[in-house]
Amino acid sequence: MVDMTGQLCHYATHLDSHTGCEVSAVVRRGTVALCTACDALRSTVGKGQAATPVPALSPVSLLDWISQAHARLTSAEAEQAAAVARARQHGHSRAAIADRLGTTRQAAQQRFSSPHGNQHQTRGTRSPTAT
Ligand SMILES: [Zn+2]
Repeated sequence: MVDMTGQLCHYATHLDSHTGCEVSAVVRRGTVALCTACDALRSTVGKGQAATPVPALSPVSLLDWISQAHARLTSAEAEQAAAVARARQHGHSRAAIADRLGTTRQAAQQRFSSPHGNQHQTRGTRSPTAT
């Protein structure tokens, strides 16, 4: 995994509400790290907290941020697939799993059915609309 240098501003992912975010935090208020622009705009975040400068590291590399986010996403997807497979092995219904995923049973089945993981399924015997 790529090691990021600088620290992300708390609002770096808030693209709509903090359009002027400079991404790299320069100050910390309590546990919240903020860039100069977001620190100037803060309202309740860090209220009453004294500003502590963030150690002067290199600014956040946006391309390294992409690499790190991609690595976390890949890892999270693998964990989710394993959790779904284990839930199925332990008898949880596709409907219950889909509910936890916020999707339809059919979409969950399409996404998490693997060519090697279907040995316990009886394919083609259930109606596509069965729940
Ligand atoms: Zn910011």
